[in-house]
Amino acid sequence: MQLFTTVQEAKDIHLSLTSKTVGFIPTMGSLHDGHLALIKEAQKVCEVVIVSIFVNPTQFGPTEDFDSYPRTIDSDLKQLETLAVDYVFTPTTTTIYPTTSMKTSISIPDISKLYCGASRPAFFDGICAVVLRLFNIIKPTHAFFGEKDYQQYKIIQHMAADLFLDIHIQAVPIIRQENGLALSSRNAYLSEQEQIEATCIYTALNQAVQLYKKGETNTSTLTKAIRNFIEANSNIVIDYCAGIDHESLLEKETLMPEDRLLIAGYLNKTRLIDNMRLM
Ligand code: AMP
Repeated sequence: MQLFTTVQEAKDIHLSLTSKTVGFIPTMGSLHDGHLALIKEAQKVCEVVIVSIFVNPTQFGPTEDFDSYPRTIDSDLKQLETLAVDYVFTPTTTTIYPTTSMKTSISIPDISKLYCGASRPAFFDGICAVVLRLFNIIKPTHAFFGEKDYQQYKIIQHMAADLFLDIHIQAVPIIRQENGLALSSRNAYLSEQEQIEATCIYTALNQAVQLYKKGETNTSTLTKAIRNFIEANSNIVIDYCAGIDHESLLEKETLMPEDRLLIAGYLNKTRLIDNMRLM
């Protein structure tokens, strides 16, 4: 496994990989089995796998958890070594955003302002800012994103299509704990009791999917059932709960099997997000 930190090193590596398929997994570190699933999928599909670890400041709001975001670089590198990842890119902030940069930004209207974008106004512009820069530095043929962040995955897919990026954007299913809680680096903020409470989200999504399978296709009925369950069984404060078209991300009245239920909420100070495909 080779570590690199500069754009020049990335260029040299790119030149040495001519005509190979290169799978790229951008992460903010604090790696868990969700990240590792993306890497394993990339290893199945691509000849070379590159992982980046970079806690991107531009996607955090001024009152959010950039400073306290878990940073576990030593254990991350051990896990990547065990998986025999080929390259790990750990840039500094000034490598990604040089002081001379005009801070060129990419903004995808409408869908960036929905759901997570409604309560985190700069979030998706920050995601696009970092992912496009990383794509241009790494020049992968494939990039892998978790369905855990479904809106993020679709926004990246739209950005890649709109800007004619020649990169195949591939989604990987959500990895959960045995009790259903979706793995997330932010779960490190949760106490043992809160981790149990947080599983309410999974239970509520699952119950709504069961209702759907029994014939209930109305979004508002399904999202009400989710809200009611979570409000009755936890202290989670729901930010949004929506039934969305899996392609456009727009809410719709009647859901199709491939559509999704999305949810986000706060358990005390920790933001939790999750989603589930209907069938
Ligand atoms: P992050 O480090 O949180 O920026 O996440 C890096 C990538 O890992 C993103 O594409 C996430 O969607 C993905 N990811 C995070 N948690 C999970 C999970 N539980 N299952 C699958 N993918 C995940």
